Amino acid sequence: MGKGDNKAGMLFLVGTPIGNLKDITLRALEVLQEVDLIAAEDTRQTRKLLNHYNIHKPITSYFEHNKVFKGAYLLEDLRQGKNIALVSDAGMPGISDPGADVVRLCIEQNIMVTVVPGPSAVLTALVASGLDCNGFLFAGFFPRTKKEKKQLWEELGREKRTLIFYESPHRLVQTLGDLLEVWGDRNCCVARELTKVFEEYRRGRLSEVREYYQDRAVKGEVVLLVEGASQENASGQSSADRTPEEIERCYNALLEQGYERKAALKEAARMLRLPKREVYQVLVEKRKNNEEE
Ligand code: SAM
Repeated sequence: MGKGDNKAGMLFLVGTPIGNLKDITLRALEVLQEVDLIAAEDTRQTRKLLNHYNIHKPITSYFEHNKVFKGAYLLEDLRQGKNIALVSDAGMPGISDPGADVVRLCIEQNIMVTVVPGPSAVLTALVASGLDCNGFLFAGFFPRTKKEKKQLWEELGREKRTLIFYESPHRLVQTLGDLLEVWGDRNCCVARELTKVFEEYRRGRLSEVREYYQDRAVKGEVVLLVEGASQENASGQSSADRTPEEIERCYNALLEQGYERKAALKEAARMLRLPKREVYQVLVEKRKNNEEE
């Protein structure tokens, strides 16, 4: 185990399982065994992990609401030469978890920081989602207020890379509906309870996945992944860029194929990659114009 400058200790950011306790590296176990102190977001959760591996080390809490004063204590211990492992509740510390602040403090004070990589829900979900993995944008949790959400959705609406969010199971259905409204019927994936007994990947269009969860009590932990904007949408495509004739033609063709009006509207929106409400508005407008002529 290495030492930082001036006999200071080292901060180890240790990745821990996101569900299955076996998803821990040999190096993580070694480091947790050897450090002087483990700073944990949730000490009860970490104790379960440590007991499972028969590791008995002093643990202290480090979480969102004590991170300011606790960070100062940890820094002092590091300066005195202690090696400290920082672990979060699950996954990689710092990813939608406290960690980044203490890392910044260490960097400022010339204390060495190293990482023992482990699983993270964001990458675990991405690789099995079936969506493009070459580029992605992880946006963490959605902001709480409607205004902030709206602003974020507008900002991300033209992003071409796969979009990844952490979401509460209770808000999932509402969010799927909201995204369908603003971005149209894109492909998506809900990755739930990863590496756990009830692991589930639900893939499909936003409308299909929403429909699936609508009448179910969604439980557990959730990652929501949404396909990035198509080339057209990324360059600002909206119903204004599709001619009303094009939209009407698509809708009528679907009616001719036997679709009910509501289903034709939904399918046209999906095919044209436009929000349903925009297709509806264009059709209403078009009908009004046709009647006046
Ligand atoms: N640091 C963690 C990481 O590296 O993934 C993330 C911590 S964040 C506080 C917790 C959120 O991560 C959950 O609300 C959920 O969105 C996601 N998450 C964590 N574990 C998960 C799992 N096993 N399955 C699905 N999502 C998970």
